Amino acid sequence: MPNPANRFHSWLYRARPDLNCIVHSHAPHASALAMLEVPLTISHMDTCVLYDQTAFLEKWPGIPVGNEEGEIISTALGDKKAILLSHHGLLVAGSSVEEACVLGVMFERAARLQLLAMAAAKSNRFRRNWAAKLSVGLAHRNASKRRSPTIPVARRELPTV
Ligand SMILES: [Zn+2]
Repeated sequence: MPNPANRFHSWLYRARPDLNCIVHSHAPHASALAMLEVPLTISHMDTCVLYDQTAFLEKWPGIPVGNEEGEIISTALGDKKAILLSHHGLLVAGSSVEEACVLGVMFERAARLQLLAMAAAKSNRFRRNWAAKLSVGLAHRNASKRRSPTIPVARRELPTV
């Protein structure tokens, strides 16, 4: 018995006669983006092969065994060659097996880079906030010193040598 989850492939082939191969996977980094409901962003030169070729399906209906899912996916894919399905995985398509496989590998690599960049950005944001709080705290302390020059300052005796 053919896998009923392949039913939506027929919708894609019907809608896009330029496609001869569809690859669907739950690759880990692409799946992590799908879990976060974050579309793939092409912002690194190594991932430019996917520029203007990725779509994002934010509302995923469930297991793709019916005609409804085929219609939804083919409509969301539009004229692109890759689509990230929220809470599911990745679908890439090409005019050949080679093209679809390369796009699939590149999508997973781009998703990994994006997750790394997102993690680093949060870390940088934390540092910026920390620096902002520090500078506000210092400004407040300096302002307090100007208003009240008699603030006691703790002093530590330096050991004599
Ligand atoms: Zn799947």
